[in-house]
Amino acid sequence: MSTATMKTGKWYPGVPPGLDGEDDDAYTDRLTGADGTGRVPYDHLRFRECSMGYHLTCSCRSGNTGCLCPCHTDPAPDPAAVTPLIAAAAGILCGLYYLPATTGERVMAEAGALGPDAGKEAIASRLGEVYGSETGDWFATDVKAVLRDVRAKADSP
Ligand SMILES: [Zn+2]
Ligand SMILES: [Zn+2]
Repeated sequence: MSTATMKTGKWYPGVPPGLDGEDDDAYTDRLTGADGTGRVPYDHLRFRECSMGYHLTCSCRSGNTGCLCPCHTDPAPDPAAVTPLIAAAAGILCGLYYLPATTGERVMAEAGALGPDAGKEAIASRLGEVYGSETGDWFATDVKAVLRDVRAKADSP
């Protein structure tokens, strides 16, 4: 994980950044609150799996209730916006970030609507507006890269 200052925010769909010198175990323990230091970066209750960014395996999905992670209520985008290209890009993003299909489609529909020349800053800004949340550079960079690859594939015969 790269370094950044810690901010409070919902952190969805991207996961929070790691801190300077923080290893994977310390990162996980901070996100879940297991380290007992109260540095959980979320402004809402999340169950363990969602805290770590493994949204598809949250126990909330198998009958447990109470996890307030936005992944459980993210609305699907306008179906007209989910072209085959957007759907393909969404599938790849969901594989990278353990996101539900609706989120993948919403993210890619929003980012795709900005056009092929949109930079990661524009994508991060748009996603930040849509989700009212922090969106890390690395997440926007991945969204941009996935869209570029899918577009390149669609353009080649
Ligand atoms: Zn979640
Ligand atoms: Zn959850």
